[in-house]
Amino acid sequence: MIQRRVLLVEDESNLRRTLTDYLMSEGYAVDSSGDGLEAQELATTQFFDIIVLDVMLPSCSGFDVCRHLRKNGINTPILMLTARSELNNKVQGFKSGADDYLTKPFEVPELQARIEALLRRASVSARPQLEVYDFGQIHVDFLKSRLSKNGETTVLGERECRLLRYLIERKGIVLSRDELLQEVWGYKEIPLTRTVDVHIAWLRQKIEDDPKAPQFIVTVHGHGYRFAG
Ligand code: CA
Repeated sequence: MIQRRVLLVEDESNLRRTLTDYLMSEGYAVDSSGDGLEAQELATTQFFDIIVLDVMLPSCSGFDVCRHLRKNGINTPILMLTARSELNNKVQGFKSGADDYLTKPFEVPELQARIEALLRRASVSARPQLEVYDFGQIHVDFLKSRLSKNGETTVLGERECRLLRYLIERKGIVLSRDELLQEVWGYKEIPLTRTVDVHIAWLRQKIEDDPKAPQFIVTVHGHGYRFAG
């Protein structure tokens, strides 16, 4: 069972702590922030299954964060939290791209129920897995595990295929080696982080004009890899 990753954005530190503790005790991995811009940075550089986002935040509002993420193609489910007095902001919330809305004060189990409903909906309505994808001079057919570049076709190994799809589906997001191992290889214990690097090198041989100066699968030093096609 993969641990779900929640980004909790709430500037009231007591509430943030309470919610973090509760969600962690329910088995979620929780990252939290009390600042709009910091949250935006986190959400664009790391993968989360869901974002719980307060509206009134320092530096920029939850609506701004939400709009920014959607504009950048990040479709992570977003649950917005708002004070009762801001209730007429609800319409604005949905317009900014939020998926659901919860009015403060709320009971914590209610928050969890909403989170679970959104996660279920996201997994049911999840786009069908990517079947084909084009970038640069490259066409990838994930169903046939084939990749053609300038008309020349090569076969992708099963792991290469899954790894490339995982990277492409999270385009622009930095993915750590640990995450890739867990999600693409399914390892709970990490036996060999280099496994990821080796497969990345193979993929680069197939897709990059100059594998030593990759344009598509970019190394983010100290963090991992990012697809930039
Ligand atoms: Ca607030």
